[in-house]
Amino acid sequence: MKKIFLALAFICAGFISQAQTSQEEVKEWLSILSSDEMKGRKSGTYQMLQAAQYIASHYEAAGLKMIPGQDNYFQPVSFSNRQGEKIIDRNVVGLLEGSDPALKDEYILVTAHFDHIGISRAVNGDSINNGADDNASGVVAMLTMMHNFKKQGIQPKRSIIFVAFTGEEMGLQGSKYYANNPVYPLEKTNVNLNFEMVAHSEKLGKRKFYLTGDTYSDLATVIRSSLNGTDWELIDDPFREMQLFYRSDNASFVSMKIEGDMKYGIPAHTLCTWGTESHYHRPNDQVDIVDFENMTSFVNMISKVSLDIANRPAQIKWTSDEFSRYAGK
Ligand SMILES: [Zn+2]
Repeated sequence: MKKIFLALAFICAGFISQAQTSQEEVKEWLSILSSDEMKGRKSGTYQMLQAAQYIASHYEAAGLKMIPGQDNYFQPVSFSNRQGEKIIDRNVVGLLEGSDPALKDEYILVTAHFDHIGISRAVNGDSINNGADDNASGVVAMLTMMHNFKKQGIQPKRSIIFVAFTGEEMGLQGSKYYANNPVYPLEKTNVNLNFEMVAHSEKLGKRKFYLTGDTYSDLATVIRSSLNGTDWELIDDPFREMQLFYRSDNASFVSMKIEGDMKYGIPAHTLCTWGTESHYHRPNDQVDIVDFENMTSFVNMISKVSLDIANRPAQIKWTSDEFSRYAGK
């Protein structure tokens, strides 16, 4: 009897680990996106095309739907950089269709920017800003989610839109473009979960993360209830004075101009583990300083949390008047 129980426990443990993404996979994906060959993933470069194609290959392997009417995942994006030069690049957009007849036309928008700042002045002989934490790590969180759902045969009740944005480092350009040219209707998009810099644990400590703008909607409360039974803790935003809420792509969805009018805004937040570690926008933001143990746990945990959000009967709602005045108009 004991032997049978042990055998069963072994099989179950094997099933669970198989259904999660391994540390080796996380390391491989992150290493490719932040390799020296990517030259710091600056928007408009050839290397960004390579990065976009790499991300798209994951979308395809995970069975995501391509952009309606296209045979690829690329949303062309063009904008002017701060020098006034025209930049032509692309967002990478894929859809995991929902399963619930009543909820599948509602969307959860899961995002991470995949660009970085390119080559800069050398520090200790290294001039390539690899952007392992900023923001290959956020992209890997997204990739993990789609692969975990595929492996586990999970179809969430609501549909999940995955978007890797270009141009964040040039002023949230890819997300602004998507907000003005949404592939799926924003009126039906309930919440934006944006991932930024989730590769480190030195300052926050292991198994801790935060949500920018955490007091503005009920998302933090919903996440905390989803974390019951895990070893993760959503801490209060420790850097309120830095206003990180406005400094990443989630801000493009907080209040949106549609046809010239300020019309619509959805609860939109960034999930992060950056504790002001000094690798930010420096060439040493590279693979060899990543905490892969903590990061692998994070990206697997966040798959479950996102699924709970996609499956819960109620939508995420603003709790702050400052933002709710735009919602639903
Ligand atoms: Zn970033």
